[in-house]
Amino acid sequence: NDEQFKNVISHAKEYGFVFQSSEIYDGLSAVYDYGQLGAELKNNIKTYWWKAMVQMHENIVGIDSAIFMHPKIWKASGHVDGFNDPMIDNKDSKKRYRADQLLEDRIEKYRKDGKTDKAEDLQTAMDDALKAEDLPQLKSLIEAHDIACPVSGTKNWTDVRQFNLMFSTQFGAMSEDAEVVYLRPETAQGIFVNFLNVQKSGRMKIPFGIAQIGKAFRNEVIARQFIMRMREFEQMEMQFFVRPGEDGKWFEYWKEARLKWHQALGTDPARYRFHDHVKLAHYANAATDIEFEFPFGFKEVEGIHSRTDFDLGQHQEFSGKKMQYFDSELNEEGKPYGNYVPYVIETSIGLDRMFLLTLINAFEEQDLSTEDKQDSRTVLRLHPALAPVKAAILPLTKKDGLPEKARAIMDTLKFDHNLIYEEKDSIGKRYRRQDAIGTPFCITIDHQSLEDDSVTIRHRDSMEQERVAIADLERIIGNKVSW
Ligand code: ATP
Repeated sequence: NDEQFKNVISHAKEYGFVFQSSEIYDGLSAVYDYGQLGAELKNNIKTYWWKAMVQMHENIVGIDSAIFMHPKIWKASGHVDGFNDPMIDNKDSKKRYRADQLLEDRIEKYRKDGKTDKAEDLQTAMDDALKAEDLPQLKSLIEAHDIACPVSGTKNWTDVRQFNLMFSTQFGAMSEDAEVVYLRPETAQGIFVNFLNVQKSGRMKIPFGIAQIGKAFRNEVIARQFIMRMREFEQMEMQFFVRPGEDGKWFEYWKEARLKWHQALGTDPARYRFHDHVKLAHYANAATDIEFEFPFGFKEVEGIHSRTDFDLGQHQEFSGKKMQYFDSELNEEGKPYGNYVPYVIETSIGLDRMFLLTLINAFEEQDLSTEDKQDSRTVLRLHPALAPVKAAILPLTKKDGLPEKARAIMDTLKFDHNLIYEEKDSIGKRYRRQDAIGTPFCITIDHQSLEDDSVTIRHRDSMEQERVAIADLERIIGNKVSW
């Protein structure tokens, strides 16, 4: 599994999906750039999410709020005081760790070694300590379980301290009147503070949702596992505003709806599971994670949180502006619901984690050996709608008018589909290169094409070829790559 994960990472780099940021300067830790194919794949994932949320729901609209926001927002949301990770340093290696991560790794190890009781006990003790924010207790657990620094191998630990994950910067040109602002650590607050703007200007009626895709920033104590945990990442969040008391029902609704969204991509259902939170964040009355089985274990991709009226209530208090909704419909007793601060169900998915999941799930090193010949190929079995390139246009040779014919075909298709034109190398090599980037169709133009306006379509997954009329290409490709 480790091996497979390493192969996915190097594949992502080799084919232009993901590069380390600032690579020629030796990189910047936990920051990554998306290359030419990565940007396409990422956009396609965004489109899939946006369509499912905004286009498919009459009562959900999308916004794009600024990364910079008034600093009081982060006071109100609880991030200034509470968005911390418990941090611990090893005095010998000078390496910094998350105390809870060290303990989780140990729990994982106990589980692997079959020490289930020990794992359960430590899990409970850790959850209790985290909930009570009992930092000395976290240190005691690290000591009691004899956890050593993975780098120095020693157990010479500092005390556990809280470390705030928000990045801050100066706002304003003059340093004297500059104010500290934060780079948003989640996109959700941009939705909450615009709740009334959207509700009024869009004449939205509860229940309704506001969706947003955008960058978020967290100064993660430790970064690992490639684009799983980054310091700059992207979130796709939707806040769904409901009547108080109907939050439980909508929480269940969104749990199921979101799992369906994932599984509609054809992923093996056994690789997904829910993980209900025992330790709830300060704003939540119910929370679950959708976890995916990565090569390094089941990990969170998406959170579904029942946030109560916490956020709107806080903003009402801190801004002094009413964050209420007037509900003119009648309840069962025939009275109007009246004014209230709505409750919120949030769905929050990390775009980069979804990207990683998609790559891992699609990546296959397929053995094609026959009795007389060893052969293999690397293929990305991406859902055609997500594939960065929909079709490759391949003239069989560089002469006899085949390139011109191929270009003419390309011109009819390229407005609707992202295509690649390639005339170098043998056709077999060109097919393999398209397999490696997940292109669902290869279209080969040969001498017969000049005579009867037909081409060969070669399918990525089955590797089968069929002869089709050029006039049918638009329909064939369109059918397969559309949502
Ligand atoms: P974790 O426990 O993994 O740190 P979280 O519970 O803090 O995640 P949320 O605050 O619920 O995460 O954020 C929602 C989603 O944003 C997560 O499910 C994840 O997909 C994504 N996400 C959060 N932090 C990061 C990060 N540092 N890098 C990439 N994606 C992230």
